[in-house]
Amino acid sequence: MNADFGKRLVIISNRLPFSIEKKQGKWETTPGSGGLVTALAPVLRDRGGLWIGWLGTDSSGDMTGYVQAAEKNAGFSMLPVILSRDEIDLYYRGLSNEVIWPLFHDMPSYCRFELRYWDAYLDVNARFASVIYKNTTADDFIWVHDYHLICVGSELRKLGLKNRVGFFLHIPFPSLDIFIKLPWRSEFLRALLDYDLIGFQTIRDRRNFIQCIRQFLKGASVHGKGQVVSVEFEGREIRLGYFPISIDYGEFSRLAKRKQVADAAWYIHEDIPDRKIVLGVDRLDYSKGILNRMKAFGRLLDKYPDLIRKITLFQVIVPSRRNIPVYENLKIEIERLVGEINGKYTRSGWIPIHYIFGSLSQTDLLARYRSSEIALVTPLKDGMNLVAKEYCASSVEQTGVLILSEFAGAAAQLQRGALLVNPYNIEEIADAIHRAFRMTEKEMKVRMSLMQRSIARQDIYWWVNSFLQAAISGNLDDFPHLEEYIPRMNIF
Ligand code: UDP
Repeated sequence: MNADFGKRLVIISNRLPFSIEKKQGKWETTPGSGGLVTALAPVLRDRGGLWIGWLGTDSSGDMTGYVQAAEKNAGFSMLPVILSRDEIDLYYRGLSNEVIWPLFHDMPSYCRFELRYWDAYLDVNARFASVIYKNTTADDFIWVHDYHLICVGSELRKLGLKNRVGFFLHIPFPSLDIFIKLPWRSEFLRALLDYDLIGFQTIRDRRNFIQCIRQFLKGASVHGKGQVVSVEFEGREIRLGYFPISIDYGEFSRLAKRKQVADAAWYIHEDIPDRKIVLGVDRLDYSKGILNRMKAFGRLLDKYPDLIRKITLFQVIVPSRRNIPVYENLKIEIERLVGEINGKYTRSGWIPIHYIFGSLSQTDLLARYRSSEIALVTPLKDGMNLVAKEYCASSVEQTGVLILSEFAGAAAQLQRGALLVNPYNIEEIADAIHRAFRMTEKEMKVRMSLMQRSIARQDIYWWVNSFLQAAISGNLDDFPHLEEYIPRMNIF
C-alpha cells in the first residue's frame, strides 16, 4: 500500500527533530535520530513539508540561526514554539509526565492531579494550535504526535481550522477502570474526537479507547471492523486505527553486520569468555520493570545454581527525566538492588550484573545487541518497545533469544518468536531465562526468523504509509487485519 498523498505534510511534536544544548558556553545542535525522524524526513523532504515543535530550551536568546542551520541540514522547514521555563515545568514535567504518562502506563499512584498542570497544558496546546493555524494552508495535512499534545486538535477547531488533522498516540491507552481516575477525562475524550484519524499502537489500546467513549460520550457509535474503524459523534466521522510503530529494519540489520560492530561485539565477549550474556537496555523509567527484572535475575541464580559463573546480566540504563523525584528514587533503588545481588553472588572472576548508567554510541549499542545471547525486555507496560525490535534486527546469526513482556505493545507482533512473560511474575521470568539459556540453536533460529520477517514486513516506512493511507483512503476495508495478541500461544 503506497500512500499517494498529494498534500503538504505538517508534523507536530513536542520537540523539533534536532536537539540544542549549551556546551562550554556555546550552543551546539545535533540532528534528531530515532525512528520517527528517519521515517518522516524523506516524506517531508519530498513534499517540502514542515515540522513544528518546541526547541528544547527555555533560552530567551535568538535561536533563528540554529533553526535555519537545522532546516538546511534536514532538507525541510521547521518552526519552533517558544515556551517559558514555567510552562515547561507545568505542561511538560507536570501534566505530561506526572499525570498522563503514569496514568496511561497503569500507574495511577504516581499521578499528581494538579489543576495548575491542566491549565498550563491547555495553554501550551493552544499556543501550538495558534502557531499551526498561522503557518498552514487549507491543503495541508496536519499530523499531531503523542500525549503532550492531545488537545491541539480541539484548539485548532476552536480557531476555525477545517483541514484534516490526524493524531498518533505513541504510549498505551489505559483501560476504562484506570482512565476513569483522570479528573479531566471527558475533556480529553472530546478533544481526541476533534481529530479526523486517531492512531493507536495496538488493537488493545484502541479497544480501551472505544470502551471509554462508549462510557462517557453518549451518542458515539462505532462502525466497521479491522485495522481502521470509524466513530460517529455529533455529526462527524472519526477514524480509529492501530499502527504498531517500528524501526528501519533494513538499515539496522545492515549496520549490525558492519565489521566495526562485529569487532566490538567480539571484544565484549572476549572480556567474559564461556558465558552467556543477558542484555537489558532501558530508559530510566518505572514503566520498564527494571526492579522486577533484577529480582528475577537474582532468583535465577538462587533456583538454578548451575548457572552461577555461566551467565551475566548487562543492564544499560539511559538517564531520563532526572528532575522528577520518583525517577531519582528509582535510580537509587536499582543501584541498591544491583549492589545486593552482586554482593550475594559475586565469585572470584565473575560479577553477575554489569550496570551502565549512561547513553551508548550507536556502534556500542549494536555490538551489545549482537553479542548478547538473550535480551530481557520486561516492561510493566509499554506503548511498543523498540529495543525488542532493534535486538531482533541486529541478530545477524539469528541465535538471540528475546524474552518479552506480555504488556509491551511489541508482544502482539512478536508473540510467536519471543518467550512471553508476565513482568510481575518473578518466578516466570527466572524460568524463561533458564529456558533461553538451554534453548537449542534450531529453536532459536526458527523463533528469530519469525520475528525478523514480521519486523521487516511492518517496518517504520510501512507505519508512515499505513497511517497516511488511513487518513485519505475512501474504503476502510482496504486495510488488512493485523495480528492480535492472544495470551499464551505456545507453538513449541
Ligand atoms: N537508545 C538510545 N541510547 C542508548 C540506548 C538506547 O538512544 O544508549 C534508544 C534505543 O535504540 C531505542 C530507544 O532508545 O530506539 C528506546 O525506545 P523504546 O521504544 O524501547 O523505549 P522508550 O524509551 O521510547 O520508552
